[in-house]
Amino acid sequence: MAEIKKQPLNKSQLVACGFIIVSILLIIALIYRGTVMVNPETMPVKSGPGISYSTVKVSKTHRVLITGERHSWYRVRLNDHQSAWVPSWLIHSHTPLKKSNYLAGATIAIDPGHGGSDSGAAYFTDSSKSRYQEKTYTLAIAKRLARQLEKAGARVVMTRSKDRAVGLKERVKIAENQQVDCFISLHLNSSPNRNEASGVTTYYYHQNRSKVLARAVSRHFSNLPLSNRGIDFGDFLVIRDTSIPSILCETGYVNSKKDFRQIRRPSFQRRVAQDIRAGINDYLKQIQ
Ligand SMILES: [Zn+2]
Repeated sequence: MAEIKKQPLNKSQLVACGFIIVSILLIIALIYRGTVMVNPETMPVKSGPGISYSTVKVSKTHRVLITGERHSWYRVRLNDHQSAWVPSWLIHSHTPLKKSNYLAGATIAIDPGHGGSDSGAAYFTDSSKSRYQEKTYTLAIAKRLARQLEKAGARVVMTRSKDRAVGLKERVKIAENQQVDCFISLHLNSSPNRNEASGVTTYYYHQNRSKVLARAVSRHFSNLPLSNRGIDFGDFLVIRDTSIPSILCETGYVNSKKDFRQIRRPSFQRRVAQDIRAGINDYLKQIQ
C-alpha cells in the first residue's frame, strides 16, 4: 500500500490560499453592506419614499437588498417580484423603536422664527435694563420639539438650528427640498402695548390640510397655563407660499409679564413641544 506523505504548502500555495480567503470575506462584506434588516413591527414599509404612500404588507423581519435611495428612504427588494421603501434613519437608529407609530417615518420641518440680526419681538424688564428676545425662545422650543419627534421615529428638518438669520422664502425652500410631511413655524406674539394680551394662537393659511393640522395641534394647547385662543387665519409668508401643510404657532405674548414668566421656563417649553408633537401625531393619524 502506497504511503501518502503530507507535503507542507509551498509559498505560492500559501499566497493563493490567503487570496481566496480575503476575496470571500470581501464578497461577504459587500453583500452585507448593501442589505438591511426590515422589521414591519417597528417601521413603516411603503410603496414609495414617504408615509403618504400605501403600506406594503410584510409578514416577518428579514434581510433585504437595498436597490435605491430617495429623500432618506431606501428602496429594498422584498422578493423577485416586489420592492418596497423603508425610512433609512430608522434602519440605522441606535435606539430602534419598540413599535411603529404615526410619527415613525414622517419628516417634519421645524421653523424657529427669526434669528441672527432679526431678533423678533422682545420682553423688557420694568426697569428696561434687560431685553429678552423672541428668537431665543423660538429656538429653545424648536430644539425640544425636534428631540421629541426624533424619539418617536420622525426625521426632523430645521430651518435653523442656531442663532442665524434665514430669509422667509429660504425657510420654505429648505422644507420643499426635503419633501416634508408638515411644517411647524414657531413664534411668540406681541401686542402694541405691553401687558395688553395673553394666550396661545395657532395660525393656518390654507383651508385644506393646514387647517386640519392647526386644529389637531391647537386642541392640545388647552393643558397650558396660558389661555388657548384657538385657531385663526394668518397671512404669513412661510405658511402661505408653500405646498406643504403648514401652521404657525404663537405660544404666548412675549411682551406680557404674565406670559413671559411662562415662556422662559423650561417646563413650559417642554409642554409646548409635547403638545405640538401630540397634535402632529393626531394629524398624521387622520391623513394616513
Ligand atoms: Zn415672530
